[in-house]
Amino acid sequence: MLVVKKFGGTSVGNPDRIQSVALRCAQDYKAGKEVVVVLSAMGKVTDELIALAGKVNENPSKREMDMLLSTGEQTSVALLAMALDAIGIPAISLNAYQVPMLTTSDYGNAKLRRIDTGRIRRELESRKVVIITGFQGLNKLDDITTLGRGGSDTTAVALAASLHADVCEIFTDVDGVYTADPRLVPNAKKLLEISYDEMLELASLGAQVLHNRSVELAKKYGVEVIVRSGILNTEGTLVKEEANVENMMVSGVAADLNTAKITVTGLKDEPGSAFRLFDLLANNSINVDAILQTGGQHGKHEIAFIVARNFTKKVIALIEENKTKLKIESVESDETVAKISVVGAGIQSNPGMAARMFEALYNAGINILMIATSEIRITVIIKEVDMEKAVRTVHDALVD
Ligand code: ADP
Ligand code: ASP
Ligand code: MG
Repeated sequence: MLVVKKFGGTSVGNPDRIQSVALRCAQDYKAGKEVVVVLSAMGKVTDELIALAGKVNENPSKREMDMLLSTGEQTSVALLAMALDAIGIPAISLNAYQVPMLTTSDYGNAKLRRIDTGRIRRELESRKVVIITGFQGLNKLDDITTLGRGGSDTTAVALAASLHADVCEIFTDVDGVYTADPRLVPNAKKLLEISYDEMLELASLGAQVLHNRSVELAKKYGVEVIVRSGILNTEGTLVKEEANVENMMVSGVAADLNTAKITVTGLKDEPGSAFRLFDLLANNSINVDAILQTGGQHGKHEIAFIVARNFTKKVIALIEENKTKLKIESVESDETVAKISVVGAGIQSNPGMAARMFEALYNAGINILMIATSEIRITVIIKEVDMEKAVRTVHDALVD
């Protein structure tokens, strides 16, 4: 039996926690299992490294950022190997280069391409616990890349898929996936199961409990993922193909502050104008949500859309550079907005859901700026200041 266990930053946040992670891994090891562990950086180390970089350069190169950030995970894996050794369990830590784990070349947002499992297999066969750095990879230049914030979850699921693991456990600082972020909505309920599709929507729409690409991979390779507490010994949430949803129409509400509204004005009203704009964004790997086109005057119109806030500068620069080709007059951004989404397989078959969500927001005096829907989600864009109130309101109206 092979288990992949991933521990997030809080679960390895200090020496005591690392020792208790070692004890948890030792239990599985002593039971005869093959144990592969994936770790995040300790506590807030990644944030601290980002702040440190900002002190020496306002605009550090992405390559050097990845070189820097990857040290966080390298610290925690070495410490866990030492902690295991201290209790008599043979263990070895490996970074992305040593595995190796190959990725695409985009620094800061690389995608895992291939994991060579030879070394891991050999270490497991010699009865070692194998501890691997999360979040990092190696590109074709032999440079270190990172997978995007929260990317250790993706390392764990990718390893579970490549090694055909029997279990993939994600240990975090909450004891499962809830119907909303339990820090924002105290009466949120823990889900015992959730389907890949719903989890993917929640993760992509701001529920950071799982990195969205980890859910994509889990679905693609059929890896069942358990999300559970890294500290308490409680039952977690199982993420799988078909979830037993107990007639729940809505599985959760997600909120995302990493949201910016881009408005392009003076677009020429002719076939191809939207195509030119969104083709440009797609070619530059910019994800877009909630598109709104409104008619303007004198044969011109306006298109507003939502991007992740960390892409605002890039999007504005791209559109400015291509103003003539795009036949537009101006572009502006608004970073004071937030995204609230309800996700549930039952949305498609319940036409009243959107109305109930809008009614709840209306009763709370919250104005809706934009709307987007799919078969399993309804998203609204609102003012950032209304975010917390909106999540609670929508959760109480549709989930509770
Ligand atoms: P880790 O460091 O273990 O990877 P993260 O901070 O990335 O942990 O993810 C866990 C956090 O996700 C929780 O502390 C919680 O605030 C947040 N979260 C957001 N939405 C949800 C949800 N629906 N269920 C559980 N946690 C959620
Ligand atoms: N340490 C990285 C981060 O904080 C990756 C992770 O924890 O998953 O984003
Ligand atoms: Mg995380």
